Amino acid sequence: MADLPSTAKAVVIGGGIVGCSVAYHLGKLGWTDTVLLERKKLTSGTTFHAAGLVGQLRTSANITQLLGHSVALYRTLEQETGLQTGWKMNGGLRLACNAERWTEVKRQATTAHSFGLEMHLLTPKEAQELWPLMTIDDVVGAAYLPTDGQANPSDITQSLARGARMAGVKIFEDTPVTRVIVEDGRIRGVETPFGAIACEKVVVCAGQWTRDLAATVGVNVPLVSVEHQYMITERIEGVTPGLPTLRDPDRLTYWKEEVGGLVWGGYEPNPKPWAIKGIPEGFHFETLTPDWDHYEQFMENAIARVPALAGAGVKQLLNGPESFTPDGNFILGEAPELRNFYVGAGFNAFGIASGGGAGMALAEWVAKGEPPFDLWPVDIRRFGGVHRSVDWVRNRTMEAYGKHYTIAWPSEEMRSCRPTRRSPLYAHLQTAGACFGEKLGWERPNWFADLAAGEQPVDRYSYQRPGWWGAVRREHQAARSAAVLIDQTSFAKFTLKGPDAAAALNRIAAGNVDRAVGSLTYTQMLNRKGGIECDLTVVRRAVDEFYIVTGTGFATHDFDWISRNLQGNCQLVDVTSGGAVLSLMGPKAREILGRACLDDLSNEGFRFGTAKAISVAGCPVLALRVTYVGELGWELHMPTEVAVTVYEALMGAGAGLGLVNAGYRAIETLRLEKGYRAWGSDIGPDHTPVEAGLAWACKMKSNVDFIGRAAVEAQLAGGVKKRLATFTAAPDVVLLGRETIYRNGERVGWLSSGGYGHTVDRAIGLGYVRQAGGVSEDFVLSGGYELEVASERVPATVSLEPLYDPKGLRVKG
Ligand SMILES: Cc1cc2nc3c(=O)[nH]c(=O)nc-3n(C[C@H](O)[C@H](O)[C@H](O)COP(=O)(O)OP(=O)(O)OC[C@H]3O[C@@H](n4cnc5c(N)ncnc54)[C@H](O)[C@@H]3O)c2cc1C
Repeated sequence: MADLPSTAKAVVIGGGIVGCSVAYHLGKLGWTDTVLLERKKLTSGTTFHAAGLVGQLRTSANITQLLGHSVALYRTLEQETGLQTGWKMNGGLRLACNAERWTEVKRQATTAHSFGLEMHLLTPKEAQELWPLMTIDDVVGAAYLPTDGQANPSDITQSLARGARMAGVKIFEDTPVTRVIVEDGRIRGVETPFGAIACEKVVVCAGQWTRDLAATVGVNVPLVSVEHQYMITERIEGVTPGLPTLRDPDRLTYWKEEVGGLVWGGYEPNPKPWAIKGIPEGFHFETLTPDWDHYEQFMENAIARVPALAGAGVKQLLNGPESFTPDGNFILGEAPELRNFYVGAGFNAFGIASGGGAGMALAEWVAKGEPPFDLWPVDIRRFGGVHRSVDWVRNRTMEAYGKHYTIAWPSEEMRSCRPTRRSPLYAHLQTAGACFGEKLGWERPNWFADLAAGEQPVDRYSYQRPGWWGAVRREHQAARSAAVLIDQTSFAKFTLKGPDAAAALNRIAAGNVDRAVGSLTYTQMLNRKGGIECDLTVVRRAVDEFYIVTGTGFATHDFDWISRNLQGNCQLVDVTSGGAVLSLMGPKAREILGRACLDDLSNEGFRFGTAKAISVAGCPVLALRVTYVGELGWELHMPTEVAVTVYEALMGAGAGLGLVNAGYRAIETLRLEKGYRAWGSDIGPDHTPVEAGLAWACKMKSNVDFIGRAAVEAQLAGGVKKRLATFTAAPDVVLLGRETIYRNGERVGWLSSGGYGHTVDRAIGLGYVRQAGGVSEDFVLSGGYELEVASERVPATVSLEPLYDPKGLRVKG
């Protein structure tokens, strides 16, 4: 390799669709000093054998937007590079064959409308007119996305590679990266058999090889290889080039036209993992031995849908390995373990659909140090310690694969790999009737069954009222009228200590954390655009020590955000596993806690927004006077070994006062009534405190220059283009999030969360009202509103105030 450069700004590893798309977009961003290294030939990994369907709709607006970028790119790429892509915008059809699936499809159509994507509902007959070869006896309805399509995966990749070369990016085939060079914790370059390339940034897009390569430098990329099959038929009479792609989830199958025949495949409930002991050396341009017996399970269903299949010749049953992940989403971003090491992998059989957009987003992340918009659903920082176990990842991934085409029930929990992380209270809660959910490996009580009344702690899912409705209502009412005890041990907890801790944290936090010892601050941490990166609670424990509490799922993300922005002499340590947390909430909380504790709990002695070391049943407890449910209460943080003692003491103390166990589903209904925002849905990097109605929590009156301050100031002075509001609808309306908001008949946004308020007895949703010309409070409040729910409009009311706000409770600041 005479012309292998000795230096580059960025090295992209892997010449599949994703690596080539990253290289293409880096070229467009002016990062022409980029080198792409492919161990064999371009496309020779998984890309060459993909079926090539390009669907766009996802449950997240931003990921849908990302896939929309793929479509926009594939439409014009051939023109730009002169290389064919096989792109065909023949539309996509999705069938529903039972009432619940039809509800799901109608809700998906509403989601599409929310995100500005065209999606039409069709009668079975109308669907058949688009796809004449299918039977429709069992079809209840269908949806059609006219801008979906299909492409030739290899051609698209070659076309992207040419585009990258045209911009000046250098691409080398037959050049494996044998080592990523890290010295003193910093990336120095990559090694190949033909010499090393010194570089600033490494972008690993090595498909199913990514996990092992990343592990060599301590980076965890939780993906595993799974066998994935489809069949290619000979020509079939009536199969025309314009046939839309077809997905028939109730029969677990998908279809697309290819040279007059059909390519069709499916997602079986019993997938087969591949390469458990490692990917064979030299594996490239290879597929696996077709497993006809395994594929058999699709045949009967498929022939019933497309009878012409029975007489069609089979060209090939193709079995290809693809990387899948535990939650069915791909993995993008800068690794939290190693600066300047970026990952784009784990594409779960939609890498062709996402390649264009994912490449764009990752290239921006590499070039600008931040993604173009919030990519939390695919962010590499959504994982944690449990995902370091390949076994865990494989088992969970098999479950996720098997659910690809099953109905995605609201609040559905995964069953595999459980239990993994258990609070010390797990057995007690189980005995008390807990129905557990799981987050980042933690078992957490979602709700409690009334065992004495014969209720079973088992989730019964529905698009109407789910099985746990009554139980959550009981817990919700107890929180409002007496008290509840909630095990929140899974909270992520950090300590920050050192002489510079206060100054460093105050520069990252939008709120003022540099307050007296014992103060408790609810604060956001903003990016430089003012977007909310973290939303957490900070306790000042000593002049040089802070205790930081954040959501279970944000442990890796928030630790990464804080640590990468820290300056000066201070250390951040994750202390999650050392502490248990019990939240005692409700009007009787003071009385109950007072029975188990001699400390002063009076309003004057223990103010809202403060924290104190107290003693409960003889055990040391750090009590935080704070609430996420809108009631008087304390979060009690304690060493794990005293959790059972404290729990028993509190349950005993509350026995005659109406104290009950409660779970996370009640927290959700309670917080919606209070209008408390949830990071990841209502707030996140795309939303600022001003837009979210949280500017009160920013230290604008101080002269401390925190990250994002300038952006917040600009919005406070110049106004915003969207504003978060609370909506309510009639009690029988089921709000789940993503329902479209109409103001005076015009689409102005969608719900970021949805649920029910058992005190106000209304369906509740939070969502941003958007308008390019600006959105004032008057604009929000002056409109007449409707929500589109499962493709039907229902009347709604709007509010900028909490729906439930008991007098005398100071909840802010
Ligand atoms: C049967 C099947 C059907 C599919 N159908 C569809 C579909 O209809 N629609 C859709 O969107 N997606 C589909 N997919 C998924 C799609 O093929 C993948 O998601 C996509 O190809 C992944 O691209 P990639 O670039 O991440 O990985 P790859 O294509 O595997 O590219 C990774 C590259 O990295 C190289 N590499 C690895 N290690 C090194 C190293 N150390 N140094 C240098 N290079 C290295 C490899 O040789 C490889 O070329 C399907 C997949 C399968 C298996």
